[in-house]
Amino acid sequence: MILSIESSCDDSAIAITEIATNKLLFHKKISQELEHSVYGGVVPELAARLHAEALPKILQECEPYFKDLKAVAVTSTPGLAVTLVEGVTMAKAIAVALNIPLIGVNHLVGHIYSLFIEKETVFPLTVLLVSGGHTQVMEVKSLTDIKTVAKSMDDSFGESFDKSAKMMGLGYPGGPLIQELAKDGDRLSHNFTVPLHQSPLIAFSYSGLKNAVRLAVEDAGEDKSQYKDIAASFEHIATKHITMKLKKYFKTVRPKTFAIVGGASANLYLRSQIEELLKPHNATLLLSELKYCSDNAAMIGRVGVEMYKQKMFSALDSLDISPKSNI
Ligand code: ATP
Ligand code: FE
Repeated sequence: MILSIESSCDDSAIAITEIATNKLLFHKKISQELEHSVYGGVVPELAARLHAEALPKILQECEPYFKDLKAVAVTSTPGLAVTLVEGVTMAKAIAVALNIPLIGVNHLVGHIYSLFIEKETVFPLTVLLVSGGHTQVMEVKSLTDIKTVAKSMDDSFGESFDKSAKMMGLGYPGGPLIQELAKDGDRLSHNFTVPLHQSPLIAFSYSGLKNAVRLAVEDAGEDKSQYKDIAASFEHIATKHITMKLKKYFKTVRPKTFAIVGGASANLYLRSQIEELLKPHNATLLLSELKYCSDNAAMIGRVGVEMYKQKMFSALDSLDISPKSNI
């Protein structure tokens, strides 16, 4: 069995995965959404303190599995430095105490493997990762052959939902709140510009759209009845930006198996628009189970199993955290 730890942002999670079968034997996550909600975003220092409280609590429940552990896997990149350190330090202590190998996992690879929790892998894949920190398209051939073909030049899809929600005083995380508000809104009420629509680049940008939302919210003033229309128009354009760029990309690389992963892959409008886009290509769409879209330790454990089989271990003194991903 592999014990896996996730603490890259505001979720403390630990999982136990059986190596031979990929079976998830244990998974527990303590989310800090409520604590950060009052600030409209994640406060790193507070997040670190909450991990220091939550992780040992969850670990205690894993004690019955300790004797069967073959390795410990932990998210080491990307994320908040102060929160990554919490998980990595705990993983090193476990590796020393139980004399088992340590595996450093890239959180973005984790999101890709959220597709394969308790399942076999399917490759090759074209993957759209939409999360709180990333918006990128990757060609994935295997665990070690991942090529990023498009990424955001500034903010991410998920973060633009969080900031838009904050501007409207809705709370955090903004994704589900905006999605809910947008349901009753008019998607065509606000004529926001699709980012980079005239650029030949296959890349993403959300800073301009965020600013347009800010102006619309300011224009609305005290009239909060306009918020649902702003939310609907924002969600529409944020999504159209992605589908327009993917359409362009598919002209040169035809999708066969396409996947959407990351916390914001839970967005139903994005899912439906991408389904439409894939229809003429007869491509298969893979999605993670809703409960595994947002950060969790099961996906880190699933990568851990693959890395264990390939003996991709880290020495205790060489595994360091890195806030930025090299993928
Ligand atoms: P990264 O994975 O890039 O390091 P992260 O781990 O903080 O960032 P995730 O937990 O994968 O991000 O995803 C969280 C993000 O997903 C938040 O920005 C949240 O608003 C967004 N999100 C969640 N549900 C939805 C939804 N239904 N629609 C849009 N966005 C959503
Ligand atoms: Fe994430």
